[in-house]
Amino acid sequence: MPAQPLLIALVSVQFFVHALAWAMTARMARRWRATEGHFALFWLFLAAGLALFVPPWASGSAPRNLADLLIIAAAMFEHRGLALHWGRCPRAAGYVAGLAAAAATVAASFLLDNGHGVRVAVVCFGCGAMLAASAGLMWRLGRAATPFFAPVAAAGYALLAALLLARGVQALLVGATTKISIDAPGHANIPLAIAVLFVGGLINLAHIRLVLGRVLHRLGQQAKTDELTGALNRRGLLQELEQAHAGALQGRAGYALMMVDVDHFKAINDQHGHAQGDQVLRTVSASLRAALRGDDLVGRWGGEEFCVLLPRTRLADAEHLAQRVAARVAAPGPGIRVTVSIGVSEYGPADADVQAVIRRADDALYAAKDAGRNRVVVAAG
Ligand code: GH3
Ligand code: MG
Ligand code: MG
Repeated sequence: MPAQPLLIALVSVQFFVHALAWAMTARMARRWRATEGHFALFWLFLAAGLALFVPPWASGSAPRNLADLLIIAAAMFEHRGLALHWGRCPRAAGYVAGLAAAAATVAASFLLDNGHGVRVAVVCFGCGAMLAASAGLMWRLGRAATPFFAPVAAAGYALLAALLLARGVQALLVGATTKISIDAPGHANIPLAIAVLFVGGLINLAHIRLVLGRVLHRLGQQAKTDELTGALNRRGLLQELEQAHAGALQGRAGYALMMVDVDHFKAINDQHGHAQGDQVLRTVSASLRAALRGDDLVGRWGGEEFCVLLPRTRLADAEHLAQRVAARVAAPGPGIRVTVSIGVSEYGPADADVQAVIRRADDALYAAKDAGRNRVVVAAG
């Protein structure tokens, strides 16, 4: 096989391997199968489109036109995969209509003088439009998660889109006389095939970066979240507490905290069973969040004990909030009636670390228990 078709075949095989890898990833993924599946289809269609340029198939115009449509479809799969990645769900009908319009234009182009130019324009406009849309998605939706990578990727997509659109306009205006397609004869196009190989690798890296970033983010969230209640776990809340304390020591606003413990919880487990006990914990956690403000952070400290960080809050306001929490938990509802005891403390400049503030809230909580439970006790400043 001459050098050039061999290179195209290699690029195509590389893209098939990408497709296979994404299909395997989609099989493994539970929640985001749609994204990975679309990336698999993107590479599969791209590989199939390129493969049609390799002899013995690449004779006559039919394989070539089919290849063009496959490549447009590939760009559509990539765009939809990106959209699904960020929780958008564009309807398939729009893509199907676009592809049908492209196919109809290709068919009609055989009646025109500049038919070849029109066909080149179709594939350039089709892919260019999808790439421009992908650039827009990266820019609008990707930046929040990856402030560096998303704009770079968006710029890459936008550059490719601009090149394709310019090429499409040129093909329409002056005809597709300049041969820059990768199947054109002559060694001048070998660098183009290598460039496609390289850009393909970069796009695949971009896909991996996206999906890996999401997996790592999720793992990070899981490591900080209590599975039963959905509140922060002890590690997660401690991180926030330490941050608040460091900020206060540097002269930023102080904070208050609450230690909340369910009263006679052992008896609830004994009477109603452990599963009902778990449900009570979920309800108490939800009541805490409902009674508090947007910035307050609830964490499950352990067992049936919760800790709440109240940023930029003075002791008197914290006591008021604690009363609200206790009243909310004790309010009659559909589930088992429970009460909580709460100890409240406030950051002071003499507190070397957050443990000192926690200890005071703990002592206040014990005082609340000693005083008969279902009440709020405030630690001395
Ligand atoms: P007090 O009013 O003094 O706080 O009494 P209490 O019974 O609430 O406190 P104690 O510490 O004696 O008992 C806490 C119980 O919480 C014991 C433990 O089995 C139960 N517990 C701890 N974690 C869980 C959990 O995740 N689910 C359930 N259902 N029970 C739990
Ligand atoms: Mg208890
Ligand atoms: Mg306890």
